[in-house]
Amino acid sequence: MPKERAEVRLPLEAERVPALRAALVAWFVKEGRDYPWRRTRDPYAVLVSEVMLQQTQIATVLGRGYYGRWMERFPDVAALAAAPEEVLLKMWEGLGYYARARNLQKAAAVVVREHGGRFPESAEAIAALPGVGRYTAGAVLSFAYGRPAAIVDGNIVRVFARLFGWDGESNGPEGMRTMWAWAEELKDPEHPREGNSALMELGQRVCTPRRPDCEACPVREFCVSAGPEAELRPRRRARREVVAVTEHALFAVRGGRILLARETGSRRRGLWRLPLRSEAAVTDPPLAMLSRTNCAVTHYRITYCVYDAPGAEAEAGEEWVALGEAAVLAMPGPVRRVVDGLLAAGELG
Ligand code: SF4
Repeated sequence: MPKERAEVRLPLEAERVPALRAALVAWFVKEGRDYPWRRTRDPYAVLVSEVMLQQTQIATVLGRGYYGRWMERFPDVAALAAAPEEVLLKMWEGLGYYARARNLQKAAAVVVREHGGRFPESAEAIAALPGVGRYTAGAVLSFAYGRPAAIVDGNIVRVFARLFGWDGESNGPEGMRTMWAWAEELKDPEHPREGNSALMELGQRVCTPRRPDCEACPVREFCVSAGPEAELRPRRRARREVVAVTEHALFAVRGGRILLARETGSRRRGLWRLPLRSEAAVTDPPLAMLSRTNCAVTHYRITYCVYDAPGAEAEAGEEWVALGEAAVLAMPGPVRRVVDGLLAAGELG
C-alpha cells in the first residue's frame, strides 16, 4: 500500500496568521516598488513580465528596456500570436532561454484560437497555457485578477525557510511540497495582490541570500531565524557540477558579408551564431584570436574564442549574410556582443 503523506501545516498559530498577512501588506503598501507590471491589470502584460523575470533580473528586464519594447511591439495576444519567428526572437535577443519567448507566443496563439482573443479567467484554463506552471498561474490570478492564489518562487522559498525554520532541502520534492502548502495557507484572501507582492519583494530586498536585513524586517516578530544565523537557511540540494566547455568560432567577413550558421537544436532553434570549428581547425594552421569571453549557460561554463578567418569556407548549414542584414538577425546575447564589438572595431576582413 502506498504510504500516506502527512498533511503539511503552516508552523504558526492560526490566530497569528492574519497578523502576519497584515504586517506584510502594510509594509508593501508603504515600501513596495513601482514596476510597470504592477500598474496594470492586463493578464497578458502580467504574463509577459512574469515569464521575462523567470530567469532574468528586474534590472535587465526594465533597465535595458526589454519589457517596454515587447509591450510596444506586441501590445496584446493577437499581435504576439501573429509575429514572425525572426521578429519574436529578435525582441528576446539577449534574454536567453528562448523557449520562454516561443512558449509566450504559443500561449498567445491558444488564447486567440481557443478563447476568442480574451485572456481566460479560470485557474484551469490559465494553467493549461503553454509554458505556464503553477507559479505563473498563481501570479496571473493574483496580480491581474486580484484572486487569492498561492505563489512560490526562489525569494519566497528563502523567506519561508527562515520565517518558519525549515531545515530540509528547500528545492527537493519534499521542500517544494511544504513551501506550496504553506503558501496556500498564507495567501491573503483580502489583499492577494499586495500579499504575494510583499513576499516576493521581502525576499528581493530585505531577506536577501546574503546579509538579510533582519533589523528592518517587517515580519521579524514572526521569524524563528532572525539574526546572523538566518543565512544558513535555506539548505539547498547540491547543484549539478559545472562543466567547462571551450567553443571555437570563426569571424569571417568578406565583401560586405559575414559567415553565419543557423542554430538547429531545440533550445536555440532559429537563432544565428558564428560558425564553430574544432580546436584542430583553428590551431593548425593557427588563426589569430580576436576575442575570448566567458559565459555561463545552465551548468556549462563556456569559454568562447573567436578567430579571424576571412578565408573561411561555408560548411553545411552556414551561409554568407550581408552585414546590414546580420545586424537585425537574432543571436544569443554573448554572440551578439562579440559580433557587434568586432564590427564596431573595424574587423571587416
Ligand atoms: S527577520 Fe531576517 S531572516 Fe527573518 S524573514 Fe526577516 S529578514 Fe528574513
